[in-house]
Amino acid sequence: MKIMKFGGTSVGKPQRMHEVARLITTGNEGKIVVLSAVSGTTNSLVAISQQLAKGDRHAAKALIGDLRAQYDAFVPELVQTAAAREAAAAILHEHFDFLSIILRISWSEALNKDILAQGELLSTKLFSTYLTEQGIAHALLPALDFMRIDAYEEPQLDTIRELLQAQLAQHRDTTLFITQGFICRNARGEVDNLKRGGSDYSASLMAAAITASVCEIWTDISGMHNNDPRVVERTVPIGQLSFDEAAELAYFGAKILHPASIWPAQQYRIPVRLLNTMEPSAPGTLITQVAAARGAKAIAAKDGITAVNIKSSRMLLAYGFLRKVFEVFEKNRTSIDMITTSEVAVSVTIDNDSALPEILEELAAFGTVSTDGGQTIISIVGHAVASDTSMLQRIFSSLEGVEIRMVSYGGSLHNISLLVDADKKKEVLQRLNKGVFNL
Ligand code: ADP
Ligand code: ASP
Ligand code: MG
Repeated sequence: MKIMKFGGTSVGKPQRMHEVARLITTGNEGKIVVLSAVSGTTNSLVAISQQLAKGDRHAAKALIGDLRAQYDAFVPELVQTAAAREAAAAILHEHFDFLSIILRISWSEALNKDILAQGELLSTKLFSTYLTEQGIAHALLPALDFMRIDAYEEPQLDTIRELLQAQLAQHRDTTLFITQGFICRNARGEVDNLKRGGSDYSASLMAAAITASVCEIWTDISGMHNNDPRVVERTVPIGQLSFDEAAELAYFGAKILHPASIWPAQQYRIPVRLLNTMEPSAPGTLITQVAAARGAKAIAAKDGITAVNIKSSRMLLAYGFLRKVFEVFEKNRTSIDMITTSEVAVSVTIDNDSALPEILEELAAFGTVSTDGGQTIISIVGHAVASDTSMLQRIFSSLEGVEIRMVSYGGSLHNISLLVDADKKKEVLQRLNKGVFNL
């Protein structure tokens, strides 16, 4: 059995959904099809929720009206028969009814999660209606019945496996399943999600849960490119990547994959394929345990980074100092990406500054603390890239004149990371594209 995940643009128009139906009905293998929300819907739901949180019901209502109009236009192009149109109308009625009710209740974090879940619920139910109209046998599996995260928002793979297998066992004659990406239930049993872009993570978790033959991530580009195509003009697709390389790229900002989406597939050695819905015959990128070749494969950028610097003479000849510093971040559930130390200073970077005030207060006990916000981590990723002595030279000579705030080299053999001011990101990515890839 395999997993096929389709992202927002892949289901973003009625014609795209028709195309997805064609893609999932080829071949004899059983499939679990994981869908994102129609592109733009989750952004709209976030905006609706933000207006409600601010108490601006009028603005929220207007946004709900706009979203409703989009779906009212979507349905007649998606399905043609009276029965299917009636079924689709009932789906819109149910979910937009919910969105009108929330205008009358007070906003909470739990309500926010309920609002965000509407996108995937709508896309899967509408797609299922189309499949039924076309006479394509399938079962719609509610992800809320089997996707689980714990109190630390970590997916509970064993529970997911148990619940998903139980769901599949109820449909022994079915070979095609449709389910929602992104959404799950948390430890309190409430609706929750795997964070923005989380449908990739859902797909990989489901692949691990059923030990799928392959986890296919269908998107709007033909595989992982060597650089961010949103920023750099000339980029090329990469045929093959190892799990380690793909995980580094996803974690360090390659938007094509959710940052955490590789580990479940890697743990169960399930190949991941990145494929293009708009160009299904393109080879895309195959991600497996094997590293295809040594050397730089791609460059990614991770935005929204803050550097925290601690200067302390107490570090001189002291042991246990770093442990105390790390404990502050651990206690505040904030993970560290890069770290450099000298005899009197330590600098770390974080991508989540929600607990920054508490962290700074606690670190002040160790010495002088300062921060640099608005930073970007640029990562050059590839098998054994950090053991290629000429690579550093190429990187630094192509970046002559650019201020590099921090360098991380040697921690992972597969990654060389640089910290630069966010406003230098475009220039750095472009210059490295030339310096590292001759593009
Ligand atoms: P989906 O909605 O299918 O999940 P995403 O928008 O999340 O799609 O991811 C695909 C997008 O990722 C591409 O359209 C591209 O702009 C962006 N992207 C960023 N970095 C890369 C990269 N290195 N290779 C390919 N795509 C990338
Ligand atoms: N719909 C969600 C989002 O826009 C999840 C996803 O697309 O992967 O973030
Ligand atoms: Mg995505």
